[in-house]
Amino acid sequence: MAAFMSNQLDFILFFYGLAFILLGFTCFAIARSTMGERRTAWGTLAGFGLVHGLGEWLDLCALIVGDRPAFAEMRTAVMTLSFVLLLDFARLEAIGRGLRLPGRWIHVLPVTLVALVGVAYGLTPANVAARYAIGFSGALATSLVFASQARGASGAAKRFAAFASAGFLLYAVAAGIVVPAAAFWPANIVNYGVFSSLTGLPVQLVRGLLACWLSFSIWGVFCQQIAADMSSARYTAYVRRHLAWTLVAMSAILLCGWTLTEYLGGIYRRNVQQEARADIDLLASRLAGETATVEGMVKALAGSPSVLPLLQGADARDEDAGRATLILDVASSGARQGYLLDASGAVVAASDGRTIVAGGQDRSAASYFRKSLSGQADYQFVFDAASGELDYSASYPIREPDGKVVGVAVLTKSLEAFETDLQQFDRPYFFADPQGVVVMTNRPAARLRHLWPVATGSRSPPSPIVRGSARLSDRPMLAKEVVDGNWTNVDDDRNYVRRRFVGETQWSLVILKPTREIFASRFLGIVITLLVTIMALIYMLGRGRWVQDEIETGNRIRLQQQAIELGLQASTDPLTGLYNRLMLDKTLADEIARSDRYRTPLSLILFDVDHFKRINDSYGHPVGDKVLVHLSRFVPNLLRKNDFLARWGGEEFLVLVPGVSGSMAFQAADKLRDAIGQDVFGEVGSVTCSFGVAEYEAGESAVELIARADGALYRAKANGRNQVVLAPQPGMSHAAPASANSL
Ligand code: GH3
Ligand code: MG
Ligand code: MG
Repeated sequence: MAAFMSNQLDFILFFYGLAFILLGFTCFAIARSTMGERRTAWGTLAGFGLVHGLGEWLDLCALIVGDRPAFAEMRTAVMTLSFVLLLDFARLEAIGRGLRLPGRWIHVLPVTLVALVGVAYGLTPANVAARYAIGFSGALATSLVFASQARGASGAAKRFAAFASAGFLLYAVAAGIVVPAAAFWPANIVNYGVFSSLTGLPVQLVRGLLACWLSFSIWGVFCQQIAADMSSARYTAYVRRHLAWTLVAMSAILLCGWTLTEYLGGIYRRNVQQEARADIDLLASRLAGETATVEGMVKALAGSPSVLPLLQGADARDEDAGRATLILDVASSGARQGYLLDASGAVVAASDGRTIVAGGQDRSAASYFRKSLSGQADYQFVFDAASGELDYSASYPIREPDGKVVGVAVLTKSLEAFETDLQQFDRPYFFADPQGVVVMTNRPAARLRHLWPVATGSRSPPSPIVRGSARLSDRPMLAKEVVDGNWTNVDDDRNYVRRRFVGETQWSLVILKPTREIFASRFLGIVITLLVTIMALIYMLGRGRWVQDEIETGNRIRLQQQAIELGLQASTDPLTGLYNRLMLDKTLADEIARSDRYRTPLSLILFDVDHFKRINDSYGHPVGDKVLVHLSRFVPNLLRKNDFLARWGGEEFLVLVPGVSGSMAFQAADKLRDAIGQDVFGEVGSVTCSFGVAEYEAGESAVELIARADGALYRAKANGRNQVVLAPQPGMSHAAPASANSL
């Protein structure tokens, strides 16, 4: 599980960074919609999200393209800056809640501490110090800020703020307490290694999931804020749906992206495995080329009739012929040395004249001797720790014609040429003894190191080769023995390790393929995921905006309609729909002003239904209403477009006739009177009205003008109704008013 997860580290870093960058954008949006001090605070939290997210992506770059000390320092600086911004967000929010806190300069203290630790102890301790001093406190304080926000909120907004608070609390632990391993307390106890061995997960995965959690909850806070501003049930329902859908869509995109990344990485992985197999086969065949000649030659030597006399104690000439064969075979096989042993293990002939006592100084010599004496061929690698040379030793039984084994032929060949040849091989290769000790390699630093720890309880004896070698105390390069091929860590760097046993021996060839190129091919999957995420976000934001605009436009139109309706209600009469007295007062004032300005005549007709009380009394109030409605529909047909008809009150109506003198208005009123008298008002039959007409006199007030018209109407009534009376101009009140009637 842990190995699988560490293969996914690139994708984990990707979505970890993405979640924080999205958090940053959300906070920017919140900052834009708020004012003053809080705007700065949210801007600062946005800065934290963006800087921290970019920092994670820089980690991703380091994983893919490789790390450099300067790059690692820069990333630690970026991380420290992001934590400072987080802490500053909490500081600003606390000040906004009335706490008295120091200014921005306060951050200089922890940053200086981190820098000093870096200079004195190195990068990892500085990273740890930044996490403890700034990361932990910043996340914890931010958690408190959201907790206090949750306390002051209600409903969904409260839930989201509480969610964010819990997220920051967990983040404080995951990013501020689980730190890289360092030599001091508590980093020596609580660190990445301990975390992943306890949980089987890399802490980056947990942080990445927390980043998604934080991003989602703060986005929820933002959406709730917009929903509250919009105060539209439709928008609130939309936000709820939108949040759920975004969560589903983002999870689906990340899941598909991860599958694609795995697939692309898988193609490369299989390529690497095939390449590694081909490489190791090539190495094995080169080595086989070296050993095969010795194996063939030792067989030929043992079977040669000329060596038998040496073991049978023949005459000197035959023995010389035997030695000559030995020397010839050594020379033609390229062996370093060749010798013949009798059945007791005594050397009877040696190519360099040296005498070797089997079972004496070299125990391996004894084992191959015994095996060959029992009638079997034996092939072994022999490493000389003193000289650092690796030999290949082949032994073969020498038989008498009747098949009895009388001695052993041995050829040893130096593998120096093979090693020199392989120095040109660019992949790291190792040639290891049965215990996994590297005896030959093109990576000098790995020489004589253990590739893997010797299995406890293993029956094979400890490697005889490098007893006393300092390198054996080094940590093994791999955590455990690789039998065939495996993706595993080599000195903390992920590699594909391929092993192949050589011939029948327990010695093996091992080669490594670094995984960096795999990350490069997985990177394509990550980039595609990023692009799809951006497109999906643009779509969702666009849609959110569209819905918001649509609802806002709807709200605006409704408000406008309400305003129009209110305006109408204020200016019209509900029964007849004619303008009311309020509107009339306004229009009359305007018309008087116009008449004063342009010196145009202006007249006013006031009329009242005759004996309306009787209609009400005889037919009932609703029928009286119908008569009024009928009149209000009928009269406008007889007026000009720019005449202004209003209901003056009860069964009295008023017509403003601009541009018309009193006498002409008198005629118009009479026409009106006549037409009304002719009309049939349903069951009531005919209805008559009395009219009072007055012409506006410059300087006169609206009240005075109406009073004159009313006076004329009064006279019309008094004169017997169903007639028109023209009011005398002011100052001529004694003059007889003009009147007309049909009676
Ligand atoms: P006159 O010829 O002198 O004008 O007699 P009249 O009965 O029309 O006069 P009066 O002012 O005494 O009566 C008016 C009546 O109109 C009184 C009131 O009940 C009635 N009225 C006022 N407004 C309405 C209304 O909106 N609907 C109905 N059905 N009746 C109304
Ligand atoms: Mg009346
Ligand atoms: Mg009346």
